[in-house]
Amino acid sequence: MIGRLDLFCQEKNLSHGFASKAYGNFSLKNNGDNFRLLAKDLNLLNYPLIQAEQIHSDNIALIKNNDQPLKPKVDGLITKEFGLVLAIRTADCLPIIYYERKKKIIGAVHAGWRGLLKNLPGKMVQYIKQQGGQTDNIIVGIGPHVGSCCYQVGEELPKLFIKKQPNLKNFSLKQNNKHYLNLLTICQQQLEKEGIKKTNLARFPACTACQNQHWWSYRQEGKSCGSMLTVICQKDD
Ligand SMILES: [Zn+2]
Repeated sequence: MIGRLDLFCQEKNLSHGFASKAYGNFSLKNNGDNFRLLAKDLNLLNYPLIQAEQIHSDNIALIKNNDQPLKPKVDGLITKEFGLVLAIRTADCLPIIYYERKKKIIGAVHAGWRGLLKNLPGKMVQYIKQQGGQTDNIIVGIGPHVGSCCYQVGEELPKLFIKKQPNLKNFSLKQNNKHYLNLLTICQQQLEKEGIKKTNLARFPACTACQNQHWWSYRQEGKSCGSMLTVICQKDD
């Protein structure tokens, strides 16, 4: 299965997708062959794959043609180029894709709680604007990730968010003395704070832990867990 978002499917020459477990494990070491299969189904064969090292930072890299296929020390990728596949690997964390419709800028982000604590989703909006984009023209899509239903955390984590981002609302839940964190609502509020309209924001409705048969989940599978791949690309044909 490839997860898709209607909001992004409507855009001409734009290709995107969230690859389910059926496409295999996209861990950095062995994702070349699996990518060929996915690229075939998305009509992206022969397009170079560009990945981030992903170190739970808030660093974003601007990608140019002929860049190396792995960008070290970043968790966000952005490009104005056509024909490059920006890709993010996740297993519970949020894969987030961006598109600036008028300036033709695409972006992709990997954000777990550490990235959210650093406001990486919001920083990507700021970065797109630095590159000439406008907030009203940006659409954002959030892929499968661990839902608040399954994301139990220590009580210190919600406190950390309250301290760092006091404007956040309703992002944690206490039930039977257990604390749960809602990564999705944190991300949505960060995007809305940057001015992203609700109608320009879409999410793929899946919890990686609840629907572990389809999506890799570190929470469910531990060390044997693989990674899913999220891709976005502007095609030049
Ligand atoms: Zn769940």
